[in-house]
Amino acid sequence: MPEFDLLVIGGGPGGYVAAIRAAQRGLSVGLVEKERPGGVCLNWGCIPTKAMLRSAEVFQTVTAAADFGVYADNVRFDFGVVRQRKDGIVKELTDGVAGLLKANGVTVIEGHARFTGPTTVQVFQAGTSPIFPGGPRYAAAPTETRVREVSAADVIVATGSVPALLPVPGADLPGVITSDGAFGLTEAPRRIVVIGGSAVGAEWASLFHTFGSEVTVVEMQDRLVPLEDKEIGTALGRSFSKRGITVLTGSTVTGIAEADNALRVNVGGPQAREIDADVVLVGVGRRPNTADLGLDIAGIDTDARGFIPVDEQLRTGVEHVYAIGDVTGKALLAHVASHQGLTAADVIAGHPAHIDYAVIPAATFTHPEIASVGLSEDAARAAGHEVITAKFPFAALGRAKTFGETEGFVKIVAGKQHSEVLGVHIFGPSASDLIAEGALAISLEATLDELADTIHAHPTLGEIGMEAALAGLGLPVHIAPPRKR
Ligand SMILES: Cc1cc2nc3c(=O)[nH]c(=O)nc-3n(C[C@H](O)[C@H](O)[C@H](O)COP(=O)(O)OP(=O)(O)OC[C@H]3O[C@@H](n4cnc5c(N)ncnc54)[C@H](O)[C@@H]3O)c2cc1C
Repeated sequence: MPEFDLLVIGGGPGGYVAAIRAAQRGLSVGLVEKERPGGVCLNWGCIPTKAMLRSAEVFQTVTAAADFGVYADNVRFDFGVVRQRKDGIVKELTDGVAGLLKANGVTVIEGHARFTGPTTVQVFQAGTSPIFPGGPRYAAAPTETRVREVSAADVIVATGSVPALLPVPGADLPGVITSDGAFGLTEAPRRIVVIGGSAVGAEWASLFHTFGSEVTVVEMQDRLVPLEDKEIGTALGRSFSKRGITVLTGSTVTGIAEADNALRVNVGGPQAREIDADVVLVGVGRRPNTADLGLDIAGIDTDARGFIPVDEQLRTGVEHVYAIGDVTGKALLAHVASHQGLTAADVIAGHPAHIDYAVIPAATFTHPEIASVGLSEDAARAAGHEVITAKFPFAALGRAKTFGETEGFVKIVAGKQHSEVLGVHIFGPSASDLIAEGALAISLEATLDELADTIHAHPTLGEIGMEAALAGLGLPVHIAPPRKR
């Protein structure tokens, strides 16, 4: 008789949410976690970066306070306090997750799990793991320690992901860090090169620039945030450049060397050059965190990149073994991991469920923010849609003016014939919150007419979707109408 109905390996936003749902469905649940509850999202990802970005935003706002008729002299920041505030928020939230697991009756087992069969694992317990960047979290299970055998009727693998490494000479030099390592910096570096201009790299670039670092971003693709609609990536590149961040797109780093008390970064491509920096932050993607997990022993297959393929009910190829979150490589986002977790738990508990990836909002917390849901213009065309686009600038929105945040725009991609909303793309203030309406519009198969006909409170940033829809219908109220032929 197995010890648990369900064993979850990994306590990130995928694993802890799955464990709570399964327990609420009446299953006995064990959860193995080798570090702290909350996974990457709460400890090294979503939350700590946003806490620090908020400090940067406050600093920036206070610096520009005179524009609002408010005078603050001698504005400065203390990076140590920025980090302490971040640590406090992380601790509150991770303690909160631990409390929720307990309150729901989930048995938390501290240690590193390794499969001994499809539904049996050994948990290597070495006491509390030191939580730190680039350190033991990537290492194999501790060997000198107690081993506990655990069995369950079903198992969910929720072990997440870790930063991808850069295969160039010098990538292992001191001062070359990943996003995890950035949390270890005790001050904003004087000069930093960020390799990779996707969400993670762009957020760190925005943050360090605000705190006074000289920032260069090197991105291989022809624009920043290349997964976003082309116009959004281009707009962010322009915005960064205007603020004084050096943006090198279409460029690759070919090597890093030590020179003159600095790290000399060799950049190849049309804008080839050498850049001296004090810190080099590598943000070139993520790889599955399956080190020393014993997937082969359980017979669990991986794809060419090491991610675990799953079906729409999160089943792996092995009976009674499910996988959720980053380790499945579907969409490396916390809310996707959590939804996969809810779905897998329901399926295991015998409730009909499946996951649908059609409507997944995503946000990048640069200044201004980026958020999107659904198809980009290119993706919609590539999928065979005849499309129209509806755009509206924040500069024409009263509320954006009152905020003093007028950079950016909303772009809606809609079907040409029925004007159904296919994608919403935002570059501008509070984009991460505004995108919820876009997600709802796509879920409910709303049209531009329906968006335009929905009364929005005035003056709010939320009016921008309605205004863009009006523009898309050729009936803009607050921007000039399309020219008559
Ligand atoms: C800098 C940064 C910023 C981010 N910002 C956002 C954001 O704003 N919004 C967003 O949606 N996403 C963001 N993400 C992505 C988000 O953090 C991940 O998508 C999310 O954490 C994935 O959740 P998960 O449960 O799959 O795995 P993880 O959060 O990676 O958790 C996996 C857990 O499993 C544990 N584990 C691994 N192997 C074992 C083992 N063998 N035994 C026991 N335990 C094990 C790990 O210790 C870890 O705690 C960000 C990521 C980074 C790096």
